[in-house]
Amino acid sequence: MIHPPFDGVETWIFDLDNTLYPPHERLFSQIEARISAYVQRELGVDEDEAHRLRRAYWHDHGTTLAGLMLNHGIDPEPFLEEVHDIDFSRLDPDPLLRKAIDRLPGRKIVYTNGARRYAGRALSALGLGGAFERTWSIEDAFYEPKPRASAFQRIFGKDGLDPRHAAFFEDDPRNLAVPAALGVIGVLVRPGAAPKRTAAEAPEPAGGPLPAPPETAAALAEEVAQAARRAPIRPPAEEVPDHVAFVARDLPRFLADLTDPAAPAPTRFGQEGLLEDQAS
Ligand SMILES: [Mg+2]
Repeated sequence: MIHPPFDGVETWIFDLDNTLYPPHERLFSQIEARISAYVQRELGVDEDEAHRLRRAYWHDHGTTLAGLMLNHGIDPEPFLEEVHDIDFSRLDPDPLLRKAIDRLPGRKIVYTNGARRYAGRALSALGLGGAFERTWSIEDAFYEPKPRASAFQRIFGKDGLDPRHAAFFEDDPRNLAVPAALGVIGVLVRPGAAPKRTAAEAPEPAGGPLPAPPETAAALAEEVAQAARRAPIRPPAEEVPDHVAFVARDLPRFLADLTDPAAPAPTRFGQEGLLEDQAS
């Protein structure tokens, strides 16, 4: 038994960072410090400039790496290996989340902008090893990040999932725009205070067949540049754009309630009662 509209879901898609575990300052600060050190060394800039570039590229291109590749020709593989080589002992297993995910019927997959090896280590640390049929990482999208339409086309195409029968759990509302336009049920994972609804311009999903993977570094750089120009308008992080159908302020509970006949059906975000229900 699954509450509607999730009863039609065949594929459950989960982002990793800040979705399958809550925003975790001590984990993320390790990655940020490593990115900053990498940028300082490779670009010959000081720490302040490295932090400014890291934030600006994340904002403008979806990931710092995409901006580094586009503007500085940075080689993605050594970058990913170095910045993700962190201490995972600060992540704790989440047995409630594991149980809730195991109870969902259908396929369960992870789609992250992070690196493949990092994702595997993080999932293991969370006690989620083996919970997902497949983990799609930034390498699988040829280093093109969410929220770009071409990245979703690649990953959804490779996976073979039907977007009209899928739900996507994400902490970054930018990354739900293209999936929602394709028919995916978008669930914003947002612990803490109630966010507010705002209208935001959603990008048009690119139509037609999946693009072929670029064959040379130059072709890749050109493709990343083109995708960057198509990148969607981003709403402020504390607001909820119209393409977000549901907000989960407690992901294990949200998932557990979906399969619990005694629990109330989930309410679309913005409809009366939602915030009271979830806060209780
Ligand atoms: Mg995330």
